[in-house]
Amino acid sequence: MADISGEPVVVIGLGRFGTALALELVERGTEVLAIDRNPKTVQSLSGRLPHVVAADTTDPEVFEQLGIGDFQRAVVAIGSDIQASILSTSLLADLEIPNIWAKATNQQHASILSRVGAHHVVFPEHEMGERVAHLLSGRLLDYVELDADFAVIKMKPPRAVVGMPLRESKLRSRWGVTVVAVKPENPGPRSGPGFTYATPDTVLAYGDLILVVGTIEKVERFGGAD
Ligand code: ATP
Repeated sequence: MADISGEPVVVIGLGRFGTALALELVERGTEVLAIDRNPKTVQSLSGRLPHVVAADTTDPEVFEQLGIGDFQRAVVAIGSDIQASILSTSLLADLEIPNIWAKATNQQHASILSRVGAHHVVFPEHEMGERVAHLLSGRLLDYVELDADFAVIKMKPPRAVVGMPLRESKLRSRWGVTVVAVKPENPGPRSGPGFTYATPDTVLAYGDLILVVGTIEKVERFGGAD
């Protein structure tokens, strides 16, 4: 499969989500064509986004004029105007853009977006709500879902696994999780100040930070352990 990670991105809809996304992409050196139908929004972002235009993306001619058919990646970040979100997504699909992302506000909206051709559908508010719930409910310091059922968490190790090499702490058999990296509270001569890969010989201290991967159910259980 072709590597499209450096390809330009069209971002449609410059609300909070679309704006943050477009600015972050530009910051990372990706070329972005940002579009919003509100000229005031476009005006206010023109100093920070090199290519930002005022246009209504429910109009197929706009796509033609802007050469959208040549892009490999597009994000529809329109939320509350569901009709505009669906129409814009289907016009991108008509142009056979191979990577279409769309923001949904609810499950029905999401399933329509998929049906009209979105390859990825995201729920920013919902996903952030879930993430914050995980962070609030345990000793987790960070939590990222990698898939519908898999996650990585950053946490301080529970007492049950402190003070012994990882091979003896039975993380896999007892908890069903894997510690992949450790950031020691007190870096030694062989470890730097940042994260290093964990090995079977790694001995955890209570104040260390660890990255743990596993199914959501298993990492949550481990994250709640004393
Ligand atoms: P956020 O939560 O990210 O702020 P939102 O879910 O409230 O966004 P909206 O405000 O509905 O989303 O839409 C985001 C932007 O999309 C708005 O700035 C709006 O002007 C723009 N937009 C809506 N319809 C169109 C359209 N047909 N063409 C281009 N831009 C559009």
